[in-house]
Amino acid sequence: MKLYNLKDKNEKVNFSKAIKLGLGRKQGLFFPVDLPKINIKEIEKLLKMDFITRSSNILEYLIGDEIDKYELHNHVKKAFLFSPPKLVKITNNIACFELFHGPTLAFKDFGARFMAHVLSYLNQNGNNKIITVLTATSGDTGAAVAHAFYGMKNIRVVILYPKGKISELQEKLFCTLGKNIKTIAINGSFDECQQLVKKCFNDEILKNNIGLNSANSINISRLLAQICYYFEAFALIAPEKRKKIVISVPCGNFGNLTAGLLAKSLGLSITSFIASTNANDTVPRFLRTGQWKPNPTISTISNAMDISQPNNWPRVEELFYRKKWDLKKLGFGSVSDYDTKNTLLELKKLGYISEPHAAIAYKLLKNQLKDNQFGLFLGTAHPAKFKKTVENILDITLPLPKILADRADLPLLSYNMLPNFSKLRKFLLDI
Ligand SMILES: *Cc1c(COP(=O)(O)O)cnc(C)c1O
Repeated sequence: MKLYNLKDKNEKVNFSKAIKLGLGRKQGLFFPVDLPKINIKEIEKLLKMDFITRSSNILEYLIGDEIDKYELHNHVKKAFLFSPPKLVKITNNIACFELFHGPTLAFKDFGARFMAHVLSYLNQNGNNKIITVLTATSGDTGAAVAHAFYGMKNIRVVILYPKGKISELQEKLFCTLGKNIKTIAINGSFDECQQLVKKCFNDEILKNNIGLNSANSINISRLLAQICYYFEAFALIAPEKRKKIVISVPCGNFGNLTAGLLAKSLGLSITSFIASTNANDTVPRFLRTGQWKPNPTISTISNAMDISQPNNWPRVEELFYRKKWDLKKLGFGSVSDYDTKNTLLELKKLGYISEPHAAIAYKLLKNQLKDNQFGLFLGTAHPAKFKKTVENILDITLPLPKILADRADLPLLSYNMLPNFSKLRKFLLDI
């Protein structure tokens, strides 16, 4: 698989290099040179396979022979071997595609675990140097990445998160592990955390000294893994309903949406997408006015989407440009906290307990879906991760899944830091 840097098209790398580098020169994102299309017959064959076999085939098709076929299948199996996604009917023409049945209860397990297995394998086959995976999280990436890399040899993980801006249980899930996982509570916003990570990538000395890598969705390996579950969604839908599918994606950094669009470009016949955001609405405003004007990040009850400078947007634009798709056909919208709360209540009346991120996607889907279409909204995290918020809004008691219950009473091991690059740099050089 060949990829080029969106900010410097002369920089071309293969998949192994892209996964190791994370970002290219000038902090540019890597993007596939070829956008192959799988023919309809092959897609139908794929849809008949089980999730892991199908996912291995798709990833092999994308990555090519750079990684031995059996090795790749093995990594996919190890990465995805947990309760698969579920399709839950909400109304006659809307279902929730629940992606939160993995080890850390969010869709990010798919990308993070695939990346961890492949990166660790490539490192063992290479010079086996220490790798430092530096990642910013708005809540769920941290847990997925920490658990995916926990205890792996020669890989240490440093996770930055905005202090007080993620849910208590989200924090407990990844800040209580220790060993090769270090966590830093930054006194600032997620965007500030993300900028610190990017700055580190600009520092050649630091980069080489600590073997810097990133497990944010800037890393293309995560997005490739996420393509696989869009195929699973189709496989779970009755064939007669597959013709007019609209998918509403709760967006923060826009990695999930990018993966869905890549699935469409591979030939999966998704009619359209809705880019759903909370009050951090840089993209909806851009699609409406043509002007890119990020506002300061606002804290909302859908905290994993509190991002006003979404990293993956250049990939979305590049894909539309390359495929000659019309950006005007991309659905979009933003939902306030007030409307999110009401939507959670509405879903409860329909017999479904959800959480704020998915509720945003449901609300926009319901408003924009046409009569002859079938709509999916992505359930990106388990409601129990936002226990207090959901319980307060719905006036219910949510039982804690075991993974959360096990960590809920453990002490936090995080360091505290101001959003200050030289402090972070020193920390990274000293650990
Ligand atoms: C990360 C996350 C999102 C946003 O996904 P992106 O790929 O960053 O757009 C949405 N919902 C939840 C629960 C998340 O953890």
